[in-house]
Amino acid sequence: MLSSRFKPWHVPLFLSKYGWLVLRKRPVLVHFEVTLRCNAKCGFCDYWKTPADARKHELKSFADAARHFNPMLVTYTGGEPLLRRDLEEIVSAVDAAVRLKYVTLITHGGMLTPERASSLRDAGIHQFNISLDYLDGRHDTARGIAGLTQRIFHQIEGMRARGIDNIRFNTVIKDDNLDQLMPIVERASALGCGVNFSVYTNSKNGNADHMLNAPHHAALDDAIKQLLDYKRRRRGVITNSDAYLEQIPQWVRGEITEPCKSGQRTIHIDPLGHVKRCPDFPTDFHWRDFRAYEPINCNACFYACRGEAQAPLRLSRVRDVMGRPQPHALA
Ligand code: SF4
Ligand code: SF4
Repeated sequence: MLSSRFKPWHVPLFLSKYGWLVLRKRPVLVHFEVTLRCNAKCGFCDYWKTPADARKHELKSFADAARHFNPMLVTYTGGEPLLRRDLEEIVSAVDAAVRLKYVTLITHGGMLTPERASSLRDAGIHQFNISLDYLDGRHDTARGIAGLTQRIFHQIEGMRARGIDNIRFNTVIKDDNLDQLMPIVERASALGCGVNFSVYTNSKNGNADHMLNAPHHAALDDAIKQLLDYKRRRRGVITNSDAYLEQIPQWVRGEITEPCKSGQRTIHIDPLGHVKRCPDFPTDFHWRDFRAYEPINCNACFYACRGEAQAPLRLSRVRDVMGRPQPHALA
């Protein structure tokens, strides 16, 4: 599922760039953490405790770093990136610095209006990823933002009306939302949106409350089977690869032993311009001093960014990318 701003003839160009980056051992995907501040209050992440005056030290521009890495994929994340009032300027400077790229914004959605989404799209955002772990008030409670869930759905209608065609939910699979996964997929499909799943870990701040332990294994297996069955019937709504989804139960059971390749295909650059191999590791050096990462024996998470980087490329992956959900009424 790609933004309609991209045409089939872009695919070989992206594949060429991918090959060029891999040959040069450069990251394919660069995440710019434009701020670590956040106005949500999630129990599994401490970014919201970042002091407000941290903004004084945040880089005004990431364009030099973007030019240096020349990545194929760029993601703006945080913290909550929409807290940056100058986000449009940051995005358009990177847009001018890198010629061929696909650009995603990750947000909790609490401040995303159709107007702001339009100005960010005009600045260079191709895809909006909005966190959504439950369809009901549990999501508001988990994020500490009253009315968030209904606000997200309302704003998505406005975004769609403005022609914003690539919106995805980022859904974390937890112990208490296994019953929500298919309903979220159905809702996304009705709205013409996608869903990208990841799996809960305590690696952010040690909060193990939502880990999928042995009592959840059978329900998890069943939920993953339903997602894979859905994907076989309909491509383009669930945007994870089949291989990633298939491996989630293995990771949960401690059966994944392959070293983590984070930092090889993907890196994170923090608000000060320092590089880390993944969101949950400390920074290692300034981006100007970047040195290629080696695989590491860490199994603390199975985030989609880790699992997808290690997933084998199958034909079904191409069909996932080319598939496009159409809005429809819920059955
Ligand atoms: S998980 Fe996201 S929304 Fe929640 S506190 Fe952390 S940065 Fe904010
Ligand atoms: S498994 Fe990889 S991505 Fe996850 S915390 Fe460890 S190093 Fe980071």
